[in-house]
Amino acid sequence: MIAVVRAEDFYTPPPELPADIWADVPVAERVWRWVEYRLQRRLTPPEGFLIGEEAWAAINHNRWVADCTCGSAQVVSPADQRMACTECGRGWVLLVFPADVAAVEAALVDDEPHLRNWVNPEAPAPAPPPPPPPPKGRPIPGGTP
Ligand SMILES: [Zn+2]
Repeated sequence: MIAVVRAEDFYTPPPELPADIWADVPVAERVWRWVEYRLQRRLTPPEGFLIGEEAWAAINHNRWVADCTCGSAQVVSPADQRMACTECGRGWVLLVFPADVAAVEAALVDDEPHLRNWVNPEAPAPAPPPPPPPPKGRPIPGGTP
C-alpha cells in the first residue's frame, strides 16, 4: 500500500548526503533545509509564532499539504503541526489537521494515489478572487460612463 506522503517522507536529503543527516531537524523545518540545498544559499526560518493564525492541512494528490497566504504551498506533517513559508517568510503558523488523521487516510486508501484528495470540511472557504481590473483604453463616445 502506498501511504499518504508527509513532510518527513518528502523533504529528504539529496542522495549524495547521508540519509540521516537531517534526523535532528524538526519535521516542519526540513523544508527549509530542502529549499536551502536546492537554492544553494542560507535560509533562516522566522522566529516565533503568528498568534491566532493558522493554515488548514489537506491532502492533494496523496500529499499532506497546506497553503500559505502568498499562494505558495508545502508538504506538511501531522507529526509537527506548524508551517513557515520558504517563499514569503510568513510563519510560524499552526496547522489544522483533522482530529483523526488515520481515518482520513484510510478513507482514501482505495483510490489511486494520484486521485487521493481531501479538504477539511470545517476549513473556511477560500477567499474570492480579486475583481477584474477596469478595462483600459478610452471611453467610447456615446457609451455609458
Ligand atoms: Zn508564503
